Amino acid sequence: MKFDLDAVHVEGECADSALATRVLRALPRDVPVTHLPDARGATKPVSGARDPFGAGKRRLVIARRKTPFLIPCPAGSSKFACCGYLVLTLASNCPMDCSYCFLQEYLADNPSFQVYANYTDSFDELDRLADNARGRSFRVGTGELADSLAFDSLTAISRDLINFFAARENLTLELKTKTDEIGNLLAMDPRGRVLVSWTLSPDAVYRSSEHLTASPAARIAAARAVLDAGYRVAFHFDPLIAYPDAERDYLLLIDDLLDNVPPKQISFISMGGLRMTPRLRGAARSRFPGDPMLCGEDVLASDGRFRTFTPLRLSLYRTLAERFRKVGAEIPAYLCMEPASVHEHVFGAPPSRPATIGERLARG
Ligand code: SF4
Repeated sequence: MKFDLDAVHVEGECADSALATRVLRALPRDVPVTHLPDARGATKPVSGARDPFGAGKRRLVIARRKTPFLIPCPAGSSKFACCGYLVLTLASNCPMDCSYCFLQEYLADNPSFQVYANYTDSFDELDRLADNARGRSFRVGTGELADSLAFDSLTAISRDLINFFAARENLTLELKTKTDEIGNLLAMDPRGRVLVSWTLSPDAVYRSSEHLTASPAARIAAARAVLDAGYRVAFHFDPLIAYPDAERDYLLLIDDLLDNVPPKQISFISMGGLRMTPRLRGAARSRFPGDPMLCGEDVLASDGRFRTFTPLRLSLYRTLAERFRKVGAEIPAYLCMEPASVHEHVFGAPPSRPATIGERLARG
């Protein structure tokens, strides 16, 4: 196990679940385990902790999810040109600690790392989705409120997921990660239905802001390994951070990527600028006061978020898009949480409808 845990709490009705059994078997002996009739209290901030959000990341709660697993991407909005992504919430929070992570705000009141013991119930929701929309294809990801693979050596959830999606023609699973935890993946046959995506940042951002993540070189090496094992791969350049030398560093990063992963084998790329609500910016700066990446030139935008000064942001988008265009492969690309006008400025054409983009990315 690569990440430290201070404690594990198991909700009573989940004690005999397959997930709890696997986790408790794989857990280091010195991690205390508590059984609780109702785990809701254990998901709250650790009282008296100097950094309650950070402490929550090291407290694993195995509980039953009582609300739907499948939701439209919470970042979606009529203001943005969206990508039609569907989110499958099988876990909440992440053992890594990126200074810019939106979970610092989104999960401030429930920061414990939760994994849902009844996660296979989500398969019924997915089958209903597919049955009700025959002929359509959907891209479904587990990496929105958690990293898809961070604790996979402990939970092995990826194995059940891959088996399920491998047998569904019109559903594509996206596992999104900043780790190199691919052991379970390499033992499975995804039958072309599983896409693994990595968020990539230059070394300067990794060192300054992406604590406990795998290095960019390790992420690229992991991508190459899963590609060779039959998975599709994709890459997110999000958040793009406009620091001095950013343009040079991002281009070097793309060179490293393309030296290892042929452009024709990249299913898609996405880009998104650094964006933070005032509350997130306050939380991030207070938890990471020495991180220069949080202190760039930003302005409060009309959606209520601080965003990198628009000319700097657009220039970075265009530089990256141009670099991918030059390699000659038609790599599908989209922008996350940007309006249609920015999409048009970067790619020279208006974006397609979210459902159309979603289908295109799902089919590959
Ligand atoms: S890896 Fe992703 S989910 Fe985890 S802390 Fe970083 S940004 Fe947040």
